[in-house]
Amino acid sequence: MSMSAVVSLGAGRLKYVERLEQKNGDWPQWQVCCCGICKTDRALAWSASNEGLVLGHEVVCCDRDGHYYALNNKIGCGACEYCREGLTGHCSGICELGVTHHGGYATRISAPKHCMYSLRLHDPQLGILVEPLACVIHGLGRLMAMPALRGNAEPRILVIGSGVAGKMMAHLLLHRTTARLTLCDIDNDALQWAQDWPIDCQRMPAAAHYHAVIECSGGEGTLDTALSAVRRAGVVMLYGIPAAGQTLPVSSETFLDRELTLLASRAGCTPTAFTQAVRYLEQHQPFFSSMMGKKIRLRHLPDELLHHPPRPGTRTWVTMAGAATHANEMPDPAWQKTTRPGGDR
Ligand SMILES: [Zn+2]
Ligand SMILES: [Zn+2]
Repeated sequence: MSMSAVVSLGAGRLKYVERLEQKNGDWPQWQVCCCGICKTDRALAWSASNEGLVLGHEVVCCDRDGHYYALNNKIGCGACEYCREGLTGHCSGICELGVTHHGGYATRISAPKHCMYSLRLHDPQLGILVEPLACVIHGLGRLMAMPALRGNAEPRILVIGSGVAGKMMAHLLLHRTTARLTLCDIDNDALQWAQDWPIDCQRMPAAAHYHAVIECSGGEGTLDTALSAVRRAGVVMLYGIPAAGQTLPVSSETFLDRELTLLASRAGCTPTAFTQAVRYLEQHQPFFSSMMGKKIRLRHLPDELLHHPPRPGTRTWVTMAGAATHANEMPDPAWQKTTRPGGDR
């Protein structure tokens, strides 16, 4: 069955097409409701290796009965050493919808049923935040298992970067740990939301002070900030996507002398993290609503993806409402009418 989609045609080239015949193997087809746009998508859109591919991995689908689902786009083989240890993101045979296989910048997607997580949200469109939240939950799990944090009732934790990932990190740390939290960003506006919470906001954090520093921005020079802010025997976690070619600004000597732990966490949507993310989002819907940024139509995606960064701390997202579908596929347009308090952000 054909669908509307945005297809990659090589580095920096994307095209909106109204009739595409594409599927991923024999998996069932699902109606896509909406799909988020993240930094990974922007990087992929400029990479040369995706010709013919439909990107988009923060996907909300619905079925013919009007049920909504968040898609876990990482499909491990289930049999290799990494899968058996719960490290799905490192599966050697991994299939990532929107990265290695066709994703959600389309009116339809084919995906296995076990990757669809049922949503119970006032606004099902919030479901685009499940995938990034699951990655953050995975990252915090890795961080909090570190010895520097395990034995401390009130560790001082610094989050660098108040974008979507930094905000999610901070929110989870506040609700799930007893850490004392500092958030730092060079943009004062980006810190505004934190005034309502017990979060210390800084443009430049104190030196050698924090038990753990989480670098969420991927910005230039932020690892210098992280390494100077962490105290001896502390942990620095890399989470933000660094610029290509960036190296760690720390000498082996300093690393050893200060007894640092360097930790990384990449996208790793294990089924466990994904299930937790769905529950957490359901419990904190007003907070996550504030992260829903600019809404665009599928046909405007090529320009948006290539040329327009999101408003700080918000996710730009694509709605499939209004995109050409064929043979009256849209089951029940109820979700299109959903409005959120605050209107169209
Ligand atoms: Zn993403
Ligand atoms: Zn595997």
